[in-house]
Formats: sequence, C-alpha cells, structure tokens
Amino acid sequence: MAQAKTAWVDFKEIKGRVSIVQILERYGVLESLSKSGTGDRLSGVCPIHGGTNKTHFRVSVSKNCWNCFGKCQAGGNIIDFVARKEDIEFRDAALLIDEWFPGASQERREREPKPRFDTSTVAVAEAPMPHKTIQHQERPALEDDGSEPNKPLAFALTKLDADHPYFAERGLTAETIATFGLGFCNKGLLRGYAAIPIHDTNGDLVAYAGRLPGTPPDGKGKYKLPEGFKKSIELFNYHRAVESDHEAPLVVVEGFFDAMRLHQAGYGRVVAIMGSSLSQKQEEMLLDHCEASDEKLILLFDGDEAGRKGQTDALWRLSKRLYVRAVDLGSDGKQPEHLSLEDLRALLPFPRGKGV
Ligand SMILES: [Zn+2]
Repeated sequence: MAQAKTAWVDFKEIKGRVSIVQILERYGVLESLSKSGTGDRLSGVCPIHGGTNKTHFRVSVSKNCWNCFGKCQAGGNIIDFVARKEDIEFRDAALLIDEWFPGASQERREREPKPRFDTSTVAVAEAPMPHKTIQHQERPALEDDGSEPNKPLAFALTKLDADHPYFAERGLTAETIATFGLGFCNKGLLRGYAAIPIHDTNGDLVAYAGRLPGTPPDGKGKYKLPEGFKKSIELFNYHRAVESDHEAPLVVVEGFFDAMRLHQAGYGRVVAIMGSSLSQKQEEMLLDHCEASDEKLILLFDGDEAGRKGQTDALWRLSKRLYVRAVDLGSDGKQPEHLSLEDLRALLPFPRGKGV
C-alpha cells in the first residue's frame, strides 16, 4: 500500500462528486432498499452487517449519508460506508471510490497511469441515479432469475501485478496472462487476490473474479465475486472463443484456469461455466451459438463427484438438440488444468485433426 499512502486524494471532492446511491448501486444493493416519503429516504437490511431487519439501515439521498441502527451502530458519508464494507482504512476507501468513479483526484495524482475505462459508461455511472430504478418491493440482490443482464463495469482495475508468481505456479505463460488481462491486486476490493476479468458475450467487462492464492484460511472461499454479479448468465471466455478457429468444436470446462490452460495449449474455442453445474441461461447460450453455427460441443468437466454429476446433467440436457461429446476424466479428481499436452491431444484430437 506504499503507493496509496503517497497518493494525493481530496476527500471533500470525492464526497461531493460521488453519491451514496452510486455506491449502493456499485455494491448491487440499491434495488433491495425501499424508498419512503419524498424518495429522499431509503431503508432496508444493512448491507454491512447483514441481518434481517428491514429498517436498520437508513439512507438520506439529499444528505448523501447513511446510518445503521442495528449491529453496526454507525453511520457517515460514502467513504465511511466503503471503509466499513471493505474493512479498510478511510483513506484507502477514498482511493477505492476514486478508482471506481474516476475524477479530479485521480487526474492530479502524479506519474500514475490513467485508468483504462470507457468514457461512455463512466458518464452513465456519474449521472445521478434516477429514482424510478429504485424498487419498492424487497428483492434479493444476489442471483435472481437472470432476466437482468450484468452491467458493464464503469472502471477497470489498474496497477495489477502481472508478474506475480501465482500465475506461473498455475502454469500460465506471460502471453496467456496478457491475453486474459490477469494480475495480482495489491489494493482495493480485491487486495490479496489474483484478479480475473470476466466479460459478457459482447466482450464488455462485467466483473473481476478474485482468486486467493494457495489454500484459503478457514471459512474463506477460494473465489470472490462482486455482490450482485450473476455468474450463471455468463460463460467465461465466450467472446474470445467464438472468434477463434471456427472449425474446432467448442469445449466447455468448469473453471477459469481450465479454460486458460486449454487456450494456452491451442484450444482457443473453450468456455468455462464457472462452477460444476450448467445454468439454464448458459444452456440457452450454448444451444443458440452451436445451433446457429452448426457447431459440435465437447464437455470436459472435472473428474470428481461434482464434475461427473454436472457433466452427466449437461450432456443429458444439451444432447437433446446438439451433437455433444463428453470426455470422461475418471473419478480421482483430475482437472483439465492439470492435463499434459499429450493427454490433451489424445482426449481432444484437434486442432491438428480438426473435427471430433
Ligand atoms: Zn449494520
């Protein structure tokens, strides 16, 4: 965090520029809050401590502040909110907000590269949130029915460390790391995690998955995904896969690293479902794509109980409409990521021979 300590930051400017509504929206919790009175007041379950009480967390939109009358017994401005939510220092929270919603503070920072972001999406993110998007009914922010697409991110993480040894440990080359935009994150939301950008079918960046290197401590998951992000409506690497080598079948794997290792081994037409069970939406995406291009599909899930179960289920569902081949990796825990090039060539006898 040495860099952040010396970075110039104007708290007042950030508080004046970014609204609490934008912050709540950024966390995917805005829609779960109820609007009351003139619409200035929002209330709901506290996004920081959780719980079930729907009045503990209260927001004043005009005053740009919040309060939790439950477990937190705290409140404040947008920076206080992010500091509590992320469990980070006030100053780091300000820097994080500035990274999400780039503005004057960032421009004044010396010798720091400009963030790579699409100005059109930033313009949208900086506009005040219209109140009509705030729902009156209670709605869980996580994994809904999938009818709402994931929104493209209004920012891109900068200063990711692409040389971090974790990626080499997972067998990835510098070229693969660059292609997938990987990097280790030393600040902000994903501090301490390897960041993996996820794009939608249009190729727009919609999330970063964070992977904790090594064995996670008790109670901590290996992966961290943004709150409100629906992985079940995306296929990792889809936008690259459909552009690559049109004669090869599309390979479906479970994880990010399986997909990246296959890509590196010359199988560019590979997508990951980011789990072991194919969602309804992912099924539709695969069917739509393969039927339109008259393409074959290969399932290459992990050789463990969850993978075998997921693969059998996916095969059953997809093969009603497509030509699908399921590759069996046995049941001793083998993963596509760890297959040697020779094994891969034997199991997937293309791109050399093409076809299945
Ligand atoms: Zn609270």
